Amino acid sequence: SRRWSLQGMTALVTGGTKGIGHAIVEELAELGAIVHTCARNQVELDACLLDWKAKDLCVSGSVCDVSSGPQREKLMETVNSMFHGKLNILVNNAGGITFYKPTQNYTPEDFSNVMALNLVSAFHLSQLAYPMLKASREGSLIFISSVASLFAFDIGGAYGAAKGAINQLARNLACEWAKDNIRVNSVAPGPIKTSLVEAADNAQEYLKAINSRIALGRIGEPREVSGLVAFLCMPASSYITGQTIFVDGGLTVNCFL
Ligand code: NDP
Repeated sequence: SRRWSLQGMTALVTGGTKGIGHAIVEELAELGAIVHTCARNQVELDACLLDWKAKDLCVSGSVCDVSSGPQREKLMETVNSMFHGKLNILVNNAGGITFYKPTQNYTPEDFSNVMALNLVSAFHLSQLAYPMLKASREGSLIFISSVASLFAFDIGGAYGAAKGAINQLARNLACEWAKDNIRVNSVAPGPIKTSLVEAADNAQEYLKAINSRIALGRIGEPREVSGLVAFLCMPASSYITGQTIFVDGGLTVNCFL
């Protein structure tokens, strides 16, 4: 039934060539959505598009650095003409932290880079998508947040502040845009096996240490995040809006020793 399907829905997923975004693109497309994605690296994007075509998934893509205002505008123009002004789903996934520094060592530029990638981009893309989400008459806007929006991690304060702001943005937009039948939710993953985590300097040590705090005792897979994202886009979740949902194997509820 339509209740558990994304058949014919249009979707934009930012940062879809790797990790969590890649899993979201595939999950949405497998459930019948027509998906557009973006990334900075053209070669990797082209390789993904070929692979999706071979799997018979309906996915297109363009190069876009979501940290850049003009590039965001260009991306949205592309999406607008491709989907004839109607967008059912926007997943603001591109983000992350590319360096690890104590807060006292942050330069103003470090701070604005983290904010540009994780907060400004998602805010502006949501604004740009609004007319199309509204025109679709059944919109779902999803932010990819993090457990770092709730817990302090040893990576500097800016990333957690940006992700915390995303959760609140979801609550505000859920109320502002409810009249347009746009639902807005924040999905907050715990540690997930992606290049973001594996690229960290102390990745192996870190993953071993954090495992002991996760109720399920293991790191998550990108597919374990994309399942929730897909559900939040379906009619089956039509009464869920403004929420921050943790996908973390029980990390944020676990106080067992
Ligand atoms: P990855 O680094 O594995 O993948 C990131 C994807 O986004 C790639 O496709 C990358 O392609 C693209 N991307 C990165 N920067 C930009 C940019 N400026 N503009 C456009 N595309 C970009 O990351 P994850 O999958 O791990 O992270 C995805 C989201 O999940 C992020 O928002 C992150 O904060 C969040 N998250 C991740 C967790 C984890 O444990 N992995 C935990 C909690 C939250 P390219 O490099 O070509 O641009």
